Amino acid sequence: MAPEGSRLVVLSGPSGVGKSTVVRRLRAEHPDVWVSVSATTRYPRPGETDGVQYLFVDDARFDRMVTAGELLEWAQFAGHRYGTPRGPVVEHLRSGVPTLLEIDLQGARQVRAAMPEAHLVFLAPPSWEELVRRLTGRGTEPPDVIAQRLAAARVELAAEPEFDTVLVNSSVTEVTDRLVALFASTA
Ligand code: 5GP
Repeated sequence: MAPEGSRLVVLSGPSGVGKSTVVRRLRAEHPDVWVSVSATTRYPRPGETDGVQYLFVDDARFDRMVTAGELLEWAQFAGHRYGTPRGPVVEHLRSGVPTLLEIDLQGARQVRAAMPEAHLVFLAPPSWEELVRRLTGRGTEPPDVIAQRLAAARVELAAEPEFDTVLVNSSVTEVTDRLVALFASTA
């Protein structure tokens, strides 16, 4: 169990729903919340910096992290692997720091199993059409990757009932405020 006064919130939801925009705002406006930095084998997008949005690692390094048990959870997503380094999460929770993980559905399920006290938040799109528009319009991925992500999104949307809280992402400001309120009301 996490010590009293700490709180682990997991933000999940389909690719393209706007999780990273919410996290960017949270980081800027609420530095009191610590956001875990995941390791990934995918390449950085323009504007992404190693160690900030992600630790960008090659397959061999990711393999070593898995073998050494360094990841709290990890998953294959759209052809690449993503995982949460365990050490920093445990340390922040032990120090009572509100901690947020932004991970996919498979990862959220693993965290639920490993840390049942975690509060799972599902970020839902206002509509399926809006999600398709956002995923297609991002313009950072080739069509086959977009198709993979849409297929994953259909599966992820069906998992909504597994979550403790559902937030519809119609306004980034509102969603961020509600996330922060969740920490405040339940810590
Ligand atoms: P993107 O490539 O768009 O940054 O992320 C793709 C998906 O991977 C998103 O749904 C994101 O939430 C998820 N993701 C990011 N980091 C992790 C992680 O550490 N573990 C898992 N399981 N998923 C992650």
